[in-house]
Amino acid sequence: MEIDKINKLLQLLSDKNQNIAIIIHENPDGDAIGSSLALHEFLRLSGYKHVSVVSPDDYAYFLKWMPDNEKIIIAEADFKKAEKTINKSDIIFCLDFNDIARTNKLENLFSRSTAKTILIDHHPQPTDGFDIAFSYIGVSSTSEIIYKLIALIDQDKMNKNIATCLYTGIMTDTGSFGYGCNNPETFAICAELVKLGINPESIHRLVYDTYSVERMRLLGYCLSERLTVMPGLYTAYICLTQKDLEHFNHQDGDTEGVVNYALSIRNIDLAALFLEKEDHVKISFRSIGDLNVNGFARKYFNGGGHANAAGGKYYSTIKNTIKYFESVLVEFRKDKFKTVQNPRP
Ligand code: 5GP
Ligand code: MN
Repeated sequence: MEIDKINKLLQLLSDKNQNIAIIIHENPDGDAIGSSLALHEFLRLSGYKHVSVVSPDDYAYFLKWMPDNEKIIIAEADFKKAEKTINKSDIIFCLDFNDIARTNKLENLFSRSTAKTILIDHHPQPTDGFDIAFSYIGVSSTSEIIYKLIALIDQDKMNKNIATCLYTGIMTDTGSFGYGCNNPETFAICAELVKLGINPESIHRLVYDTYSVERMRLLGYCLSERLTVMPGLYTAYICLTQKDLEHFNHQDGDTEGVVNYALSIRNIDLAALFLEKEDHVKISFRSIGDLNVNGFARKYFNGGGHANAAGGKYYSTIKNTIKYFESVLVEFRKDKFKTVQNPRP
């Protein structure tokens, strides 16, 4: 991590009475919530009096146990509070996204703000315009970058709550150490977090083993009724209509991880999940190896993400979206008609 950037950051942070906002992307995941709560706690312990986390919208119930998560301001629920917080901010940290369009409701507030802006993120192709950018694409998660920053700035402030949040971020962004973690440093950091007294087993249970019965039945329905496999294109996808979701009394987070089941099928290296929304279809893409779904999502679905986990939106009906997907898929896979499975370890 570049020392001149750290010095610039410390200079910006010299006045502890400043108003600081930490903002995250819409539909925040474990890494967005974990990294922002960890930074919030670190700044608070370091003596900053006015620090807030602002999320564009609500998040999954399986993250709502995290220390201090109830302090997060949710713009969708209380826009006035979010607006006031961002308008008066002297410094805005942008965590776990690199394009302000990903903050949806917060984008206009951010664009009008005169605050100094600090990006901390691990997604590819960051946009310009931040006063300082800690953008590290090979790193497992934003939480891992926050760990490194805290370790460099004031290691003594690292406590069990911060460690719990950071571990949750790393665990969820690597799918429980299933991808994006072929780096010994990720495990060395997790070992340090465990030494701080966190309980990885209970964190894993809280995130992954607290399904409602409806969520479990929805998963069964996705796999038995809504899964389409295209063996010739090494692709599998699942689509869900709003009616399906209502039938299973859908809650935020209930479809999290569903796309990974499609990717778990033998000889499948591209998976997609289509979710019908009010005026568009939200899409999740997952892939294996050097099949780059970030490029695919950017080119065809106005989206982005990581090389192996990306998403986008398509403003049409679910039927048309799938028709379009199937047609652009042939184009995308033109020279990739042989499945790209990982080599044996
Ligand atoms: P998920 O499929 O879990 O919603 O998202 C997977 C990854 O793709 C995440 O890293 C997320 O930030 C990114 N992503 C999801 N939707 C979008 C989108 O609409 N635009 C961009 N740029 N990235 C997205
Ligand atoms: Mn992340």
